[in-house]
Amino acid sequence: MRLTQRALCLELSVTLALDARAKAMRAAGRDVVSMAVGEPDFRAPEAAQAAAVERVRSGNVRYTAAGGAPELRSALAAHVSATRHVPYAPEEIAVCHSAKHALTAAHLALLEPGDEVLVLLPAWVSYFEIIKLTGATAVPVACLPDCRPDIEAMRAALTPRTRALLFNSPNNPSGVVWTRSEVEAVTDLALERDLALISDEIYRALVYDGVVNTSPVEVRADARARTVIVDGASKAFAMTGYRIGYVAGPRDLVDAVVRLNSQMTGAPNTISQAAYRAALEGPPAELDTMRATFQERRDVLANGLRALDFAVPEPKGAFYCFPDVSSVLDGRSSTAFCEELLEREALALVPGSAFGLPNHVRFSYATDLANIETALARFRRFLGR
Ligand code: PMP
Ligand code: GLU
Repeated sequence: MRLTQRALCLELSVTLALDARAKAMRAAGRDVVSMAVGEPDFRAPEAAQAAAVERVRSGNVRYTAAGGAPELRSALAAHVSATRHVPYAPEEIAVCHSAKHALTAAHLALLEPGDEVLVLLPAWVSYFEIIKLTGATAVPVACLPDCRPDIEAMRAALTPRTRALLFNSPNNPSGVVWTRSEVEAVTDLALERDLALISDEIYRALVYDGVVNTSPVEVRADARARTVIVDGASKAFAMTGYRIGYVAGPRDLVDAVVRLNSQMTGAPNTISQAAYRAALEGPPAELDTMRATFQERRDVLANGLRALDFAVPEPKGAFYCFPDVSSVLDGRSSTAFCEELLEREALALVPGSAFGLPNHVRFSYATDLANIETALARFRRFLGR
């Protein structure tokens, strides 16, 4: 069939493709350790599981309103108000099929072909493709060497076509959590240049060492009118396969997202909405356990990588370490490096080039300590140490 340029120009998600490859190698009998995919290896909270089963059994699995069931919109409005310390109304929440879908709908609502979006590196793989889909252009903005935001580089990347700025803290792939003053600086830039701020806060709940993530809406009262918060259940509640997320933002943007969704996908999954609501009602003790477990794994992995003399950007959130491996690439690209590592040592990592920083590789520590120890041992052997 003759396909559109729009469809042909999209890449398959590198993270999902690598995960599929690791699973296929495992099915073929190889003892693969995969630190490729960013997916919590925990179960959803008991209350969420029970609510999903109960909803199926009740027979009440009809369409909800396109923007989400009113009870979930209210619960999310209360959740955003409490966690970002700024009041949100249910009409300022659009429930979506996932954070990925929320990002896509928000970008479709905000961007015209030819617009430019500053994408702050390192950046999650799907941002570039979602922006492409809208006909707008993603303009990657370099970070400082420790993966912290570079405000001067953002300023230098602005053009009259710049319409929005997309950032993600806690960050995938680096685990870096922006400080309040970094969030203030980027928010001020958006205010000064009349830009929309798209703040992907999907890892907000996964922060370590007492660090707190800050949303732009918390630092400037007038940021709220231009900020789109994207979040969901996948990471905070280990509910990846439930596929449920949301957009929180100004009423006109939320209405536009609901109209788009009403035509593209219809109402979000009713069972997952019920499960998400139950998870939000918490306080699920499982989350504290999950956070403490991630922190312990983070320590083992980051210390192990630093002991090998790699610079590891400060991993204070999410579940990734993103060491700079330029000293061991020996002329190879990070993609070739990861391919060789997978073939020789059956260790799956994601090349930094997928996130715009080709001198790095991403380790996901959403896997148990035994796997992390094995991965470090294989990595050492691969490096000939
Ligand atoms: N944003 C970031 C930074 C992510 O890592 C992910 C993980 N897939 C998502 C958004 C999307 O999450 P989901 O679609 O599972 O809600
Ligand atoms: N966000 C996760 C990752 O970066 C899940 C895979 C994906 O949706 O890309 O690995």
